[in-house]
Amino acid sequence: MAKNDEEPWRHHPYWWDAGPDNQPLNLDLLAKSVGEIPAQTDCVIVGAGYSGLSAALTLARAGRSVVVLDSSQPGYGCSTRNGGLIGPSFHKLGLSGLRAKLGEAGAAAVMRESMDILIWLKQFIGREGIDCCLTESGRFRGAVTAKHYDELGEQAEGLRKLVDLQFEMVPQSAQLKHIGSAYYRGGIVYHQDGHLHPGLYLKGLAGLALEAGVRIFAPARVERLEATKEGFRVNLGTISIDCGDALIATNGYTDPAFPYLRRRVIPIRSALIATQPLPAGLMQELSPQRQCFGDTSRLMPYYRPSPDGSRMIFGGRALNLADRPQNYAADLHRLMTRIFPQLRGTSISHAWSGTVAYTFDHAPHIGRLAEGPMAGAYYSMGYCGSGVGRASWFGRKAALKILGDAEGSTPLDELTFATRPLYSGRPWFLPAILRWHSLLDRFGL
Ligand SMILES: Cc1cc2nc3c(=O)[nH]c(=O)nc-3n(C[C@H](O)[C@H](O)[C@H](O)COP(=O)(O)OP(=O)(O)OC[C@H]3O[C@@H](n4cnc5c(N)ncnc54)[C@H](O)[C@@H]3O)c2cc1C
Repeated sequence: MAKNDEEPWRHHPYWWDAGPDNQPLNLDLLAKSVGEIPAQTDCVIVGAGYSGLSAALTLARAGRSVVVLDSSQPGYGCSTRNGGLIGPSFHKLGLSGLRAKLGEAGAAAVMRESMDILIWLKQFIGREGIDCCLTESGRFRGAVTAKHYDELGEQAEGLRKLVDLQFEMVPQSAQLKHIGSAYYRGGIVYHQDGHLHPGLYLKGLAGLALEAGVRIFAPARVERLEATKEGFRVNLGTISIDCGDALIATNGYTDPAFPYLRRRVIPIRSALIATQPLPAGLMQELSPQRQCFGDTSRLMPYYRPSPDGSRMIFGGRALNLADRPQNYAADLHRLMTRIFPQLRGTSISHAWSGTVAYTFDHAPHIGRLAEGPMAGAYYSMGYCGSGVGRASWFGRKAALKILGDAEGSTPLDELTFATRPLYSGRPWFLPAILRWHSLLDRFGL
């Protein structure tokens, strides 16, 4: 990685200081609820990311009084750290894997909902006028082997029939039209995908929630949640709040206050780097159509141009559980220059990471705790690394469930939220698996 002594890279998300108007994204300002934390409210939501805020907005617009609590700042979790790539996030098992688990109709319903999420997200942002640099330029997904190229085509054809997926196969001879790289053996363009500015999307969502009367308090860590006769008591240490309904929306940041849920999500570190601004001609060569990118390797890099088109923002899995920017910045830079050798001498400006929540069946989970001290509390989490749309959608669904609205149902209601014996929430086994995957990718296996 080229060293930049004059302006070393910053260890924080590019999104926090690089809005399109160059205004800092001040997370503190988002928690502008005034007054004391109330002793009583209709609904308490734990976690002020896309899930929590989307739920809060729905509940407040339905007339409920809502308090959102976050142990750090609104959006401090994944919701201002992500890559901002949007797509249908089809289930990792694919149509055939899902059929084996859920049957023909169940699999089709899950896939349809994935496409509905993307359509809804774009409409929601448009309808609400959220200014977050939403771009519907499509995604190029590169095939790292010729076999993967054929598989991409077969899967996409099945999804075209089922959910009207709009795609185009791009043979290697034509891929320079989409990506300035000879790394791939062709690829596919998903025309309905795109990207946005995650920080501005969070800011827009928080603004709508505040306008609707939601009160957001941060830092305010929930230490305990207990079911009572009338609902729940939410304990914040020195004070507590009584409420009728509670929603836990903590995703990859689910902490020991929620042991049942912590045993069911696997926090995986995902990391990103942003390059220094690049010459306009070079950016045009790397991303001629301002699309976002991914590929078929196991470590699944994801990358995109910055909203102003001046930088490459490049992400992937971090190989350590802890936040070690020196390590992942160097790893990501190496991978980026393998795909784009043109960037070998390029310095980076930012490096950051966050923890996404995987689940043992690769599916998000939304529902209500059936037993234990928090029985009756709702939860929504486990978006498996694709949560811009999913968190917004399932947060809303959770709110509709609280409201008793039948629209709150989802095909995922049928799934059991499983854990594994001896798993307590710390995935000690992950670094070894990820290193193994990285080695297999390196040798094209
Ligand atoms: C590096 C990275 C890149 C990603 N890239 C993409 C992408 O390109 N596209 C995509 O679709 N998805 C992406 N994702 C995933 C996506 O960002 C998440 O799925 C989504 O933001 C989850 O939102 P959330 O509201 O559920 O959780 P979060 O935004 O993580 O919010 C959870 C909140 O809960 C709070 N909390 C935890 N415990 C407590 C407690 N006890 N009391 C109070 N508050 C608590 C935390 O402080 C946190 O703010 C990425 C994620 C990461 C980390």
